[in-house]
Amino acid sequence: VFIAFEGGEGAGKTTQSRLAAIWLRDHGYEVVTTREPGATKTGMRLRALLLDKETTGLSSRAETLLYAADRADHVANVIRPALERGAIVVSDRYVDSSLAYQGYGREQDVEEIAAVNAWATQGLVPDLTVLLEVPAETGLNRLSEPADRLESEPRAFHDRVLRGFRELAEAHPERYLIVDASRPQQEIRREIQDRIREILPD
Ligand code: C5P
Ligand code: MG
Repeated sequence: VFIAFEGGEGAGKTTQSRLAAIWLRDHGYEVVTTREPGATKTGMRLRALLLDKETTGLSSRAETLLYAADRADHVANVIRPALERGAIVVSDRYVDSSLAYQGYGREQDVEEIAAVNAWATQGLVPDLTVLLEVPAETGLNRLSEPADRLESEPRAFHDRVLRGFRELAEAHPERYLIVDASRPQQEIRREIQDRIREILPD
């Protein structure tokens, strides 16, 4: 079972994916928690490059390919091996982040980015994608240190990203759970658990 958490800045992906993993482990499942970008050794180098303020003038296509390269390595070396031995994989971000940020955010063709990523991941799609939605304002304010390169993007960029996630979720209702993540953490946690329960093997 493969579960991805998606959303904009400060939506609570890291927190909620950890809470879901703890709950699953309590129920006896083997769980691998992971994240993008930067889940592998090479991925950490790509993450550093992508998020470094010194990385200026990187073209949008190059950025897209570096995220896809990170993801290809992530799938090949972390996600697939875990799924093959029967573990549940919980990832903080996956392909839809690239569709939202590099596609909607950078205003590149979303279908083309989907094709690049389908190749990079050999077509691996999550069984469930949890979209944590908070208004751009709320999310950006929640960040303790807005240090990453992307967080200094203009507000219009973040608005496009959030609209992108919403459109993706609405286009794939069978694998998406849209959560209003401006509510109390425990409510959000329970809503996510209820949906995960539906896709668990016995
Ligand atoms: O999820 P996390 O906060 O670690 O993401 C780090 C940064 O990478 C964020 O600023 C996010 O906006 C950016 N990002 C991106 N494109 C992706 C994934 C993440 O621009 N595909
Ligand atoms: Mg996070």
